[in-house]
Formats: sequence, structure tokens, C-alpha cells
Amino acid sequence: MNFSFTEEQEYFRKMLQEFAKEELLPHYTKWDREGVTPRHLWKKLGELGVNGLRIPVEYGGSGADCVTTGIAAEEIGRGDFNLTYAVMLNALIGEIINNHAREELKREWLPQIASGEKIVGIAITEPAAGTDAGGIKTTAVHKGNVYVLNGEKSGISVATCGDAFIIFAKTDPELGNRGISAFIVPANLPGVECKGYEDMGNIPVGRGSIYLNDVEVPEEYLIGLENKGFSQVMNGFDLSRLLIGLQCVGAASQSIDETIEHVKARQSFGKPLATYQGIQFPLVTHYTQLELIKWQAYRGLWLRDQGLKHSKESSSVKWLGPKYSVEAIHECLLFNGHYAYTKEMPHEQRLRDVIGLEIGDGTAQANMMVIAKDIIGKEFRSY
Ligand SMILES: Cc1cc2nc3c(=O)[nH]c(=O)nc-3n(C[C@H](O)[C@H](O)[C@H](O)COP(=O)(O)OP(=O)(O)OC[C@H]3O[C@@H](n4cnc5c(N)ncnc54)[C@H](O)[C@@H]3O)c2cc1C
Repeated sequence: MNFSFTEEQEYFRKMLQEFAKEELLPHYTKWDREGVTPRHLWKKLGELGVNGLRIPVEYGGSGADCVTTGIAAEEIGRGDFNLTYAVMLNALIGEIINNHAREELKREWLPQIASGEKIVGIAITEPAAGTDAGGIKTTAVHKGNVYVLNGEKSGISVATCGDAFIIFAKTDPELGNRGISAFIVPANLPGVECKGYEDMGNIPVGRGSIYLNDVEVPEEYLIGLENKGFSQVMNGFDLSRLLIGLQCVGAASQSIDETIEHVKARQSFGKPLATYQGIQFPLVTHYTQLELIKWQAYRGLWLRDQGLKHSKESSSVKWLGPKYSVEAIHECLLFNGHYAYTKEMPHEQRLRDVIGLEIGDGTAQANMMVIAKDIIGKEFRSY
């Protein structure tokens, strides 16, 4: 057993720690207040090598391992939680395109994702199919040398700013979730329309719906095999769920650090707040819970790097990581008193932002189903 990071990983962490502190944290609330996606920061992450971590060197990335990608998720999460979507989406989508797309698609999209020039989202959820992702209704009909897509995707991150989306559609509705295929669909194709939501958090991520009306997608834009999209791509969620755990832990740890400084300085009844066990013990509880999630996440990423099974580890991090992080940030907000209830301090935004990932990429219940299937048995599945 070896719990240490390599020298290269430690160096990478230190570089990102400084970047997050100096260049992200001071502007974290700005993008939320202004309601803009800071595209220049996606490009900056490209320059720092963060977008291309799971993209091979020959396609403009660095071909780093999953543990290193986790470090990026955690450290960027400390500076700007919303920018961690770049780490998570680019790792997930970089892997999907690299593992399953044709050579021409890899050459076209991967270098642009790695550099941050292009933002690519992933669209599975629909108005009537979320947790039950196999129940999607969007169709893709093969006609000549194109697939014609029709349907509606909902709740999609980067809907308002994405240059393309990996869209899941039924190519053989008779086959249930075995009849689903994945396509890369540029947002500027005729018939694609994206509309943003007024979300409570993750404002700079620009979540929204994507409407597909007779969208003609060139057949080369099919990713992987026809009717196999679901099974081929689902494995990617074992990665994104581990990264999400670390993104949330990063944001919550930042709130804890800021709160420790506050309770040391703030006096009540003639003593610093930090003196009271009513303050100490909750902070210790949150710290301990976040540490447990962090190490379970790195363990899951390490297992993935070794090519070993890690679905239940990933789902455990996904259902408890955002939950513990939300609880920690909530308590930090309270310990900072009434000023933390204003928009002058970042805790209220962190709380709104992190809650989103209690739902996005699978709710607690969806992830518990994955763990139950493993530890209780497939034959007791309810779906
Ligand atoms: C911030 C954010 C970002 C997102 N980004 C994306 C994205 O980029 N791409 C994308 O495709 N989707 C995205 N989503 C959508 C997300 O994946 C879905 O919202 C999620 O899978 C849940 O689906 P649903 O909202 O339809 O809820 P439902 O599936 O209707 O579930 C509603 C509630 O019932 C529970 N539930 C459902 N089935 C069961 C069961 N069998 N047993 C017990 N409880 C159950 C759920 O856990 C949930 O609490 C995002 C959502 C959010 C909030």
C-alpha cells in the first residue's frame, strides 16, 4: 500500500494551488453575479494542461493518469467550483472520443478540447428520462450518409456555451437501452436549438435544454458502434463520479479553511469562537468526512489507472461526496454569521453550486442502485 503522490503530481498540485488562489478565487463570485461563462479561463486551463489530461499527447493532451486528473478537480474546486466542469467534462469526453470515435473525429475534436478552444457537453437526460437513462425517446434514423436526430435533451451542462454535444439517441427503439447510440453533434448544425435555465447555482456553467429537429448528423459522427453507445460510454461515468467527489471536496475544504481563519479571529463572550467545542467538533466532523471521501476518490482513480473494477467505489464517492460537502459548506456559512448570508462572502454561492452535483451525473439513489447491484446481486435489481 502506498498513499503518496509522485513528485510530478505534487508539483502539478502546487502549480494549480497557486493558480486557484491567485487567479480563480478572487473572481469566483464575479462570473455568478454577471451570469457569464468565462471562456478565457477554459483556455487558460488548456494552457496549464488541465483540459487535456485524459487526452493522448498525439492529440494535443498530456495523457496523464486518472489520479493526476483528480488532483486538478480538487484544486480547481478550491478556486472556482464552476470551472471544475472543465476538468470533469473534458476528462469524460476526452476519454469517450479517444476510446470510441473514428480517427478523423479524434483529430478534429481532441486538440480543440485540450486547448480549451472548444467546449463539448454530454447530453443524455430528457424531460421523461433522468435516472432511468435507458428510457430516452430521442431517435436517430440512418438515412443515406446521415443520421436524422429528433428529440429534446434537458438539464444539460454547458447547453448555452457548448460548441458540440455528445448526444445519445435510440437507433433501435425495439432494443431498449441496448438500442442506444452516441453521436457528436456540433451546436451549429441546422435544427439544433439550445435554451438556458435560470438555475439556483452553477450559473456560469449555462445548463439548459437542447432541441433537435430533423438534425442531419454525418454518419462519421457516430461514436463507437451503432446500438452500443450506452454500454460503451457508461463506463466513463465511473471516472466523472470520482472527479465530482473531489470537485465538491475541494470547494468544501476551501470553505472550512476560510471558516477556521474566521473563528480564530472572531470573539464571543471574550474568547475566540475557535475556543468552543460547539465550533470545533462540527468543523472536525466535516473535515473527517471530507478526508474519507477524498481518499476513497483517489483510491477509485488509482483502481481505474490499474484497469481494475471501481464502479462501487465511484458511486460511493458520488453519493456521499456532494452530500458531505453541502453539509460542510452549510455549517461554515452559519459559523461566519450574518455576513455569510450576504453575497459579500462566497459560502452561499458554494452551497448553491455544490448542491447541483447532488443531482447531476446521478442522484444518491441512482448511485446506491449501482452499489446494491454489486454487493447484493444483479438478480435483485429493481430496474
Ligand atoms: C447541475 C446539474 C448538471 C447536469 N448536467 C447534465 C449533463 O451535462 N448531461 C445530462 O445528460 N444530464 C445532466 N443533468 C441531469 C441529471 O443527470 C439528472 O437530473 C439526474 O440523472 C436525475 O434525473 P431527473 O432529474 O430526471 O430525476 P428523476 O430520475 O425523475 O428522479 C427524481 C427523484 O427520484 C429518485 N429516484 C428515481 N428513481 C428511483 C428509484 N428507482 N428508487 C429510488 N429513488 C429514485 C431520484 O434519485 C430523484 O431524487 C444535470 C443535472 C444537474 C442538476
